[in-house]
Amino acid sequence: MATMLNIRPVSELPVSGKRVFVRVDFNCPQGKGGALTDDSRIRAALPTILHLVERGARVVLASHLGRPQGKTPALSMLPVAERLAELLCPQVKEVRLTDEVVGDGARKVVADLRDGEVAVLENLRWEPGEEKNDEALARALAGLADFYVNDAFGAAHRAHASTVGMVKLFPPGHKAAGLLMLREIEFLSRLVQTIERPYVVVVGGAKVAGKIGVLENLANLADAILIGGVMANTFLAAQGHALGRSQIESDRLTVARNFLKRFETSKVEILLPTDLVVARGPDSPGGEVVEVDEVPPDCTVLDIGPKTVTRFALRIATARTVFWNGPLGVFEKAPFAGGTLAIARALAASRATSVVGGGDSVAALHAAGVADKISHVSTGGGASLEFVEGQTLPGITSLRESGSSQ
Ligand code: ADP
Ligand code: MG
Repeated sequence: MATMLNIRPVSELPVSGKRVFVRVDFNCPQGKGGALTDDSRIRAALPTILHLVERGARVVLASHLGRPQGKTPALSMLPVAERLAELLCPQVKEVRLTDEVVGDGARKVVADLRDGEVAVLENLRWEPGEEKNDEALARALAGLADFYVNDAFGAAHRAHASTVGMVKLFPPGHKAAGLLMLREIEFLSRLVQTIERPYVVVVGGAKVAGKIGVLENLANLADAILIGGVMANTFLAAQGHALGRSQIESDRLTVARNFLKRFETSKVEILLPTDLVVARGPDSPGGEVVEVDEVPPDCTVLDIGPKTVTRFALRIATARTVFWNGPLGVFEKAPFAGGTLAIARALAASRATSVVGGGDSVAALHAAGVADKISHVSTGGGASLEFVEGQTLPGITSLRESGSSQ
């Protein structure tokens, strides 16, 4: 078992000839007409699905997709099931899709599965009971299978019928974490439990309010915290720097000031930008590099400056563990992408265990072409942040064999 957490890995379940319910995260982005624009969440679940198929399990997959209001046909799992069928070919000949989440039709499809076959349930959120963690829905879902596997790390911070309610209905030895879930837990644990030092945290992005708790927890664990993005603007403003028309979360200034004061004397080093790239706005054709106390009143900060990049990159180069969440500038615009791309490359070049979480940060890794050089790219934005914030995720806790504390 994954010792610390007392969670059984999927490899320890005797699944041959058995029905195995697998909660996956197939919440893929869709374009017009419902076509999937990115199938990476389906690909991420393939190792667990193939593991079960190869051992002769009868696999029942379930996920939510988008935010349907009732049984919205536009949010059917059909495009997901079709893509999955392509990806599983030739190991699996056919992927069946139920026309409902639970009920006679779904039971029939599952009952007709033979060893090594795969079915997909319709969108879990077609059932209002999913998000309410409704007991009747949990019972109906649990009734579909002999074993429960959770591989949906991206949904582990939600206490829903498919992540918590139904799990309690499986007896000891009948529930487990999938391979993706185990990988997420293993790498994210290295950021909060079994830390190799020096440990460097890089935080940027725009959602200051949502990330302050993460910073507070990591400031107690890390050796250095490097801050960029709107997060840095808010901290610099809290120190009294005039930042022109920069985006700042002004209702977080006190929190930022208190944070800096609290960690002033502790051993963690908090590094803020010393130079910045500024312009009239994100659509300006280029920026200007200025010192932190030289931001013109009609300009906005859009990236960290080259001296800051060098200082940050040196810290990353000597680290043994690095966690990065949040772009350091407006990387969507070429003139202001330099800082973020340079940090992505620094992470890729380092020998540290590198972990990256957050939708935009992962997009920046791809833009820099270095995603495959990162030790672990987390599939769960919100879930990975809650994990490093030190919160217990209900979807992980429910997999524990005993009620022991973490
Ligand atoms: P993630 O998705 O990785 O968690 P966030 O969603 O918190 O990251 O933040 C990403 C956004 O932050 C990007 O769209 C980026 O343009 C924006 N951003 C970063 N730095 C700045 C800045 N200085 N001014 C305005 N927006 C910024
Ligand atoms: Mg984002």
